[in-house]
Amino acid sequence: MDNINKNNLKLVVVGHVDHGKSTLIGRLLFDTDSLPSDRVEEIKKSSKKLGRKTEFAFIMDHFQEEREQGITIDISQTSFQTKKREYIIIDAPGHVEFIKNMITGASQAEVAILIVDMNEGIKEQTRRHAKILSLLGIKNIIVVFNKMDLIKFEESIFNKIKDEIQKLLKDLDINAKYFTPISALNGDNVVKKSNNMDWYKGATVLEGLELIENDMLDEGNDIIAVVQDIYKTDQERIVVCKIEKGELTVGQKIKILPENKITKIKSINVFNEIRKKAYSGESIGITTSDPLFLERGNIICDSKMDFNVTNEFKANIFWLSKNSLKKNENITIRCATQEIATEIIKINKRINSSSLELIEKNGNTIENLEVGEVIIKTKNPIVIEKFNKSDELGRFVIVKNNIISAGGIVV
Ligand code: GDP
Repeated sequence: MDNINKNNLKLVVVGHVDHGKSTLIGRLLFDTDSLPSDRVEEIKKSSKKLGRKTEFAFIMDHFQEEREQGITIDISQTSFQTKKREYIIIDAPGHVEFIKNMITGASQAEVAILIVDMNEGIKEQTRRHAKILSLLGIKNIIVVFNKMDLIKFEESIFNKIKDEIQKLLKDLDINAKYFTPISALNGDNVVKKSNNMDWYKGATVLEGLELIENDMLDEGNDIIAVVQDIYKTDQERIVVCKIEKGELTVGQKIKILPENKITKIKSINVFNEIRKKAYSGESIGITTSDPLFLERGNIICDSKMDFNVTNEFKANIFWLSKNSLKKNENITIRCATQEIATEIIKINKRINSSSLELIEKNGNTIENLEVGEVIIKTKNPIVIEKFNKSDELGRFVIVKNNIISAGGIVV
């Protein structure tokens, strides 16, 4: 699973074909000086040959070419850097793959840019992509209105299409953070403020990105450790756990979930080394000052923190298995190291992951490659969190007949 760290933000650009995704990405890379100079020269030359301005979409085409030839750059590694952090641009292949990757955690965008061509307005794929963003619960969304140059930077046209988009987003329960008029080709309002749109006082695309805070991180003494195993010796019980986020210190007051018991860390041991502190990513053994009964699947957090402990929650799942899922059948959910017997008590919606069309409401099954908006009921309490708040506790897999059959996110 992807490790979210403070210094990078994962970004995806979506929108109708030809609305300017590649050009915008190329522009972001170019204007943040993230491209090697020989590549820039090459692109300038080939654009000139074609009698055009520097085509920033070429930058992305070159990456694509290299990828196809298996040469240097994997597009999922395309990134640009600012003083604040690194932005990693995630490739958005077809809908099915994108939804699958996002739900299963193969790649996880924290920010999405939805791009609309001002000359064309909202198109079929604009609607579909907006729908995907809503299904995936991506919280940080920037809408960019591209090709402003083609409509002579007219504020009234921008306002008209912005109203239409806002209506579409409202219907999908999406709150976009910024609505930015740009010309990706010329670089207006991408990294540099445009001189052609004095009427626009808001953020450029990059300024908008820089202002986005990563919810998953900035929560003070936010820690999560998941219990993997317990070793008993004659004198004590050693709790083996992995710190997913934050750090643990000897003497720290901790909470054990789902039981909600409070205790203190008595000792920390990392590979036979006695420690005062342990950090994110480390697998450690701890003992607690109270003889609590901990077991695999328990979640440890700071005593001041709170997570949802529940028997019932709403989720979006992506069904990977060829065998269908039936309502109320016995399945198991794995979330962090929790493994809990479960059933789906309601299938609110069945959605075709390719067309995103609604197949049925209140269904009884979910078939291969379908997305389901479901209500899950667990036998025992489970510790979960909304997926856009916690990667560890917001994402799960469904196991049916010992086979991983679906990925899911808590919404
Ligand atoms: P994608 O399919 O969404 O990746 O779109 P591209 O980035 O390949 O762009 C499609 C076409 O639109 C290309 O010919 C671009 O040069 C052109 N284009 C992109 N952005 C702008 C813009 O801001 N103004 C104008 N006039 N053309 C643009």
